[in-house]
Amino acid sequence: MSAPETRPSAIAEDGLQLPKVLLHEHLDGDLRVATLFELLQQQGLACPVDSVQALGAWFRDRAHAGSLTEYLKGFALTVAAMASPAALQRVAFEAAEDARAQGCVLAEFRIAPLLFEPHGLAPDTVVGALLDGLAQSGLPSGLIVCAMRQLPPEQTLRAAQLALRWQGRGVVGFDLAGPERGFPPALHAAALSLVRAAGLPITLHAGEADSAERVVEAGRQGARRIGHGVHLVDALRDPERRHLIDEVRAMGLHLEVCPTSNVHTGASASLATHPITPLWRAGLSLSFHTDNTLMSSITLAGEAHDLLQQTPLTLEDLVQMQLQAAAASFLPAGQRQAAAQAISAWAAARSASVIGSHGDHPVPPD
Ligand SMILES: [Zn+2]
Repeated sequence: MSAPETRPSAIAEDGLQLPKVLLHEHLDGDLRVATLFELLQQQGLACPVDSVQALGAWFRDRAHAGSLTEYLKGFALTVAAMASPAALQRVAFEAAEDARAQGCVLAEFRIAPLLFEPHGLAPDTVVGALLDGLAQSGLPSGLIVCAMRQLPPEQTLRAAQLALRWQGRGVVGFDLAGPERGFPPALHAAALSLVRAAGLPITLHAGEADSAERVVEAGRQGARRIGHGVHLVDALRDPERRHLIDEVRAMGLHLEVCPTSNVHTGASASLATHPITPLWRAGLSLSFHTDNTLMSSITLAGEAHDLLQQTPLTLEDLVQMQLQAAAASFLPAGQRQAAAQAISAWAAARSASVIGSHGDHPVPPD
């Protein structure tokens, strides 16, 4: 018997209504297409196409090119367009409001503030403007400062010092982004050690383009969460490397998995074959995120919908992922607990059977 007509819309409704915790989204990959078009015009910058619609199509083409190089071209445009305090504030505010409209109840956004220095903006000005924008939204949120791992370690140290200047004032974490291969976290050990000593939580991109071993290395460098980590699936399938999975579990690492982004950058062939399902079944703590809504032309609710439709994951799985994300968030305990309560209350209202079958995920204290 064919599925009833209402099924896709019921999945879409669940995907939208499920209270979500967003841990992994880059602000320079999270602009509204219309905002980007307007900012490019305002600043007299060249746009590759001549309308908002064509710009949306331009990003969709690059997302599906199966090439990381094509995917990354969009960032040169967005960083240039965002290079004023007013634009930064607007982009941060709109990102938070858009996440809220997607059912998000708690969010962490990230960016590398030093990228704006060549555009004449001081890193502290960048962070201040972004935090002002986030604070204008009613969504509880925080900012993660990224350093670019392909740049010299001294630059990472400067980014770390910047993050620590804003610790307790809206900056909630530190990250290494950029090309993973050839730039392991150990290269930036001095900066990571400084951040760790100051008690600012660390999340590191690892196991996206490089191997499962990098995830464990990131954990040893002090990361509490991992951006992507999908190559852990290789260790899951190899008895000789299965100890890596045990180490990740023992360190309590939470994986910020970005399924569609992985398909677009070539880290995974499809959502149906994406490692999120086997890694979840292996009992790892993880959740799903958008990474770059603009570059991938996706939404947070759409990602929930696509996982429900194209993978064996159930709504119950997705609810439990949100609870794990709330527990793993770097935001204050009160906000994490409120998010966990909203998720549990929604799940209880929808189905009493949704709660409790995947273990407890108590929110740790600050
Ligand atoms: Zn990322």
